Amino acid sequence: MTNKPAILGGTPVRKAHFKSRKTIGEEEKKAVLEVMDSDTLSAFIGGPGKFFEGGKKVKEFEKLWATKYGFKHAISVNSWTSGLMIAVGAVGIEPGDEVICSPYTMSASATAAIFYGGIPVFADIDPNNCCLDPESIKNKITERTKAIIVVHLFGGTADMDAIMKIAQEKDIKVIEDAAQAPGVFYKGRPIGAIGDIGGFSLNFHKHIHTGEGGMIVTNNDELALRARLIRNHGENCMETIELDDLSNVIGGNYRLTELQSAIGIEQLKKLDGHLETRKSLAEYLTKELAKLEGVTPFFISENTTHAYYSYPFKYDKNKAKLSRSLFVKAVNAEFPVPKGYESVPLVEGYVKPLYYSTLYQKQIAIGKNGFPFSFNKHVTYNYDKGICPVAERMYEQEMVFSPIIREPHTIDDMKDLVKAIQKVLANASLIAKEFVNDSSLTIMDSLSTVNKTNIK
Ligand SMILES: *Cc1c(COP(=O)(O)O)cnc(C)c1O
Repeated sequence: MTNKPAILGGTPVRKAHFKSRKTIGEEEKKAVLEVMDSDTLSAFIGGPGKFFEGGKKVKEFEKLWATKYGFKHAISVNSWTSGLMIAVGAVGIEPGDEVICSPYTMSASATAAIFYGGIPVFADIDPNNCCLDPESIKNKITERTKAIIVVHLFGGTADMDAIMKIAQEKDIKVIEDAAQAPGVFYKGRPIGAIGDIGGFSLNFHKHIHTGEGGMIVTNNDELALRARLIRNHGENCMETIELDDLSNVIGGNYRLTELQSAIGIEQLKKLDGHLETRKSLAEYLTKELAKLEGVTPFFISENTTHAYYSYPFKYDKNKAKLSRSLFVKAVNAEFPVPKGYESVPLVEGYVKPLYYSTLYQKQIAIGKNGFPFSFNKHVTYNYDKGICPVAERMYEQEMVFSPIIREPHTIDDMKDLVKAIQKVLANASLIAKEFVNDSSLTIMDSLSTVNKTNIK
């Protein structure tokens, strides 16, 4: 009975913990110390002049990012949430404008619109890449639609050609949320600035990080200027800039520090190596999972490279003869319980469709009177279950992903994961029988798991 699943009392595939990720090396430490010695931890000044665009390290980090990928502008920010808000402001979203968003992403990919009075309108996702489906976008466009926020989920890319075609026909701006896909190319072009403006996250959980942080990219000079103004108290610059449209230029303090930029420079140098590691681990998983009944690796289009922020695959409970919750629970039982920031090997569902949340259900965001949802007097917005069936199906039934496909993990770690999946699938009926009356195994189970992992 050596093959007895751990969830039924058998010996687990593995007793040793996965190694923790070590994100910071000597290079980052040295770079930070240099900034410390300079005493200038941030050089920004919130008004016109030499330091409006920050200090030495901020500029160096931005230049490195821009030249590495061929973006005309890279603008660092203190988080990608800030970056999304700035992008929304820069493209000119104003109260009552509709912004088409993905429901299957981190909340900020949609709430960014709300801060400028924009109303998120959710289009459905393509089951092949979990990014916005161009056909669904078409169906959601109205005369009030001003922008689309495209999310490149899990490190893959949305169908940018189709989306750009729709946007250009209707004169709609495109913002790319590439938080999970740094260094990814779509048909040979770096994502992030295929649309009007976009960018990347540098929070701790992303491929590379500066603690918190983000990088906006664009090839459009005017949008770059507007973004820089919003980043750093643009209201103090209004008299000195040549912009016909001063709307939304009022700014915040969304600045990245010299310390963080010094870290970012060293982190960026390591990105290609990380992407290589993730790719080799992912390709191994894809090859092995393709042999199994009940799990289907994601199809990766030849049009795009992939950053594998996590490793997504689809689960079919009818073919596997085991519920998704039990499958995930049983596979995870083959590994020791993670400590600290280590991830569980498998997570089900990813995030719930954003419109399930109270914010959209009650349509309460800014103030007590339902702004911005109530702004267009004769329009009512529908966030009911059923509006994006593919996203709902992914969340409730099909999506499973592994967050462990990254350095310092190796093919041997992936072999253990495959072994555990094989073992659970081979014993599916046995497990299902044992847990037949276990009503605790609902999606809520997996929700608490999601919160504990590094996926955000
Ligand atoms: C991480 C993430 C964000 C937010 O980035 P922060 O830097 O944490 O503000 C936005 N969108 C997506 C898709 C993300 O994964």
